[in-house]
Amino acid sequence: MDGWNQAERLLKRYNIKWKDITIQHGRAVDSVARQIYAPRPVDARSFAIFCHEVGHILGYDEVGSWNFAIEQARSFGLPVGEVKRAIRVYLFQNAPSLLPHFQ
Ligand SMILES: [Zn+2]
Repeated sequence: MDGWNQAERLLKRYNIKWKDITIQHGRAVDSVARQIYAPRPVDARSFAIFCHEVGHILGYDEVGSWNFAIEQARSFGLPVGEVKRAIRVYLFQNAPSLLPHFQ
């Protein structure tokens, strides 16, 4: 599945400026203070994580940022089911208490 690499479009859509966030070495890095620990999107998992971190920049909480990732996948015409599965796997490994929000 191509099309996961929507980083530039996503940042542009939410007016997150390249002078504030640049993609370096496969990570989005805020040149001022904060770093987004997210790989450049290449598949459902990395797309979800990248969107999740952008969601935090936009002020969403944990659950809201994962829902934001699902919304972004839908809006880009990407397979939402794959993104939801990737999120569930990620949460199972990293934050199982959030799993009930994503059944
Ligand atoms: Zn988070």
